[in-house]
Amino acid sequence: MMFNSLFEQYESFQEKRISNRRFPEKIWDDLFQEWSQSPLFSSRKLGETFEGKDIQEIRFGQGPIHIAAWSQMHGDEATATMALADIFLFLSYNLNKWFEFKAELHQKVSIFFIPRLNADGANRWTRETALGIDMNRDARTQNSPEAKILARWLDEIKPIFSFNLHDQNRLYSAGKTPHQTHIALLATAGDEHGTWTASRLRAAKIANRMARHLQAYLPNNIAKWSDEYEARAFGDFAQGKGYGLVLLESGGAGWDLEKQSLRKYNACLLLDAFYSIATESWRKEETHLYQGLPTNERQIFDILIKKAPLNQHEPIYRADIGLNIQETAKEDGSIEYAWIIEDVGDLSPWYGLTEIDGEALHLQTEKMLKKEGVYHHLVLTKNNEVAFDLSNYTQKIQS
Ligand SMILES: [Zn+2]
Repeated sequence: MMFNSLFEQYESFQEKRISNRRFPEKIWDDLFQEWSQSPLFSSRKLGETFEGKDIQEIRFGQGPIHIAAWSQMHGDEATATMALADIFLFLSYNLNKWFEFKAELHQKVSIFFIPRLNADGANRWTRETALGIDMNRDARTQNSPEAKILARWLDEIKPIFSFNLHDQNRLYSAGKTPHQTHIALLATAGDEHGTWTASRLRAAKIANRMARHLQAYLPNNIAKWSDEYEARAFGDFAQGKGYGLVLLESGGAGWDLEKQSLRKYNACLLLDAFYSIATESWRKEETHLYQGLPTNERQIFDILIKKAPLNQHEPIYRADIGLNIQETAKEDGSIEYAWIIEDVGDLSPWYGLTEIDGEALHLQTEKMLKKEGVYHHLVLTKNNEVAFDLSNYTQKIQS
């Protein structure tokens, strides 16, 4: 109910000044100034990244139930950060329609956010911090200043629920199927036995609620992560401490490379989860929908060409080729897209988001194809007419 209303009215609270994943830091700083001036928020500097950028907490609400949420611990995973900008807009501006919703939240819960935690990595568009550390393997030893700050912050807040917000590779599929995982969830394990502690059960109930809402829109595209215990990961670390941790991962969404559709799911799922925590309705959730989700598998390529020609001149050898989009972070702050031939051979266990029958096609622009070769142009012909042109697909990426 609440989720559907949020979903229908999303455009009214979408922060339109952010429209792509690698948005300029200046935009974020300006927005942050606005949020911190709202009487409904308070902000606090928790420390600094290695390169001296402020790590800020934004707090909404004065209630006794503590919730923590952080995004972009991996610098190049910004989908949830865009959703947090939407959530901050939703919470900060006056809309009579949502007055009671927000009043309930403000009174019952305190939500503590650290958006864009690994700001150095976000600027470079790298997974790791400026020191080259993967924060999600740094929960135990806390070698990076950012991990120290996150761990100390969590222990100070002692949340009953926490949300660890990530992006995952676009090309995971939900089970061994052709269906791309749009959203993946995990109620992480808090110990090596995967014990169903009260904390993990709370997380699974929220994940179940999220799965139920998503299934109405994306019946085949929701997965869960493997729940094997990883003591160095923040999700497992926080679950072990009893912080009710839900891992929410944005995967791929077809040609929506900027993941604006996934941003919308993130914003609505999180607002709905906060509300269910405030009203305690999460307690009535079961966990079977969550438990029944297929796991993330690597089963797809962006484009799979079956029986593609591997060389130009007779005799022509053929095999399947899997082409994936490759992203490169440019100095000017943009992302450049190209194509890489990820694999060549008998790829019959795999699927393509786009599948092409290459049996009657011939190489036009290249003498031969190279595994791990990077391509901007690739044309295949049939009877000397263009039958496949990679640049048509490049245009889909860029539009
Ligand atoms: Zn991540």
